[in-house]
Amino acid sequence: MSVRPLIFDAHLDLAMNAMEWNRDLTRSILELRAREEGKTDKPDRAHGTVSLPEMRRGGVGICVATLIARVEHNTYSPVAGWRSAAQAWAQTQGQIAWYRAMEEAGELVQIRDAAGLEKQLALWNSAEHVERTPVGYILSLEGADSIVSMSHLGRAREQGLRAIGPAHYGPGTYANGTGASGGFSAKGRELLSKIDRLGLILDVTHLSDECFWEALSGFHGPVWASHQNCRALVPGVRQFSDEQIKALIERGAVIGAALDAWMLVPGWVRGKTTPQSANLTLENFVDHIDHVCQLAGDARHAGIGSDLDGAFGCEQTPADLNTIADLAKISGLLAARGYKPNDVDCIAHGNFINFLKRAWK
Ligand SMILES: [Zn+2]
Repeated sequence: MSVRPLIFDAHLDLAMNAMEWNRDLTRSILELRAREEGKTDKPDRAHGTVSLPEMRRGGVGICVATLIARVEHNTYSPVAGWRSAAQAWAQTQGQIAWYRAMEEAGELVQIRDAAGLEKQLALWNSAEHVERTPVGYILSLEGADSIVSMSHLGRAREQGLRAIGPAHYGPGTYANGTGASGGFSAKGRELLSKIDRLGLILDVTHLSDECFWEALSGFHGPVWASHQNCRALVPGVRQFSDEQIKALIERGAVIGAALDAWMLVPGWVRGKTTPQSANLTLENFVDHIDHVCQLAGDARHAGIGSDLDGAFGCEQTPADLNTIADLAKISGLLAARGYKPNDVDCIAHGNFINFLKRAWK
């Protein structure tokens, strides 16, 4: 297998898929799909697009991989969650145990600092057989409900946690996420300053508009949006406005474009619209990347945060994407729009890598 150009995917929920969907991600995508034929407990059964072999085949040699566990709140909660923070914490600890098992098996390697990042880059770029090369991952927490107390956040950092998004969908313990409104709670402001002190990256993805602006003014460390598209192209609070994207660019952030269909084109109805009926292709994905580049005036702030295993599969992705390996097509699509090879590399991996080098200096 030849080594494809490196792709840095800033958002995958690998452990959630392993531990809640019961997917052995070391297996082939065909086997994963075959095992799920006829199952209906999750919306994307038999349609998964992510496995470790497919990641390697597409050149995804480094990713940001999440811990994720929600707490159910009494108010509007669009996604089911645990009854207590202790349960959510325990769930994330189980997810960490899976990441460790994958490290022991030589499937994954955790990247914790600049030296580790350099090591993975050298390993990946010199690998003769990427199918036997571990995929590097940076540990991130999507939604902070599982952080029982500030000392738990310190413990998570010791376990390798390097980025954190305070909210997910609806209201959270610390912040308001997609679909909810309002700013940070007092606990949330305490969390922000703890994130600052621990030197973690703040992921502003999913934050309500109020929380977004509060975070940008009150938080002083590195900020990125790991999987976030453009409201100018797809109206709705899950996407960021041009004003928000410009503020992120000014802050030196990188914004990872996501591949979930309803964030790519307007009017998508889950379970009804199909990639074919919406004429959804990877060009729509490139539109979001290009929009960020146009706002920035360069190609230094756009990246990929595919979210391809975020509770959806190929029933809800571009028609010309079968598995995550098709991320390799992005380079050609960007080049066809006039992006120079160096800019293509920046978007495929360079921007997130340079961001981490600056954050971990
Ligand atoms: Zn998400």
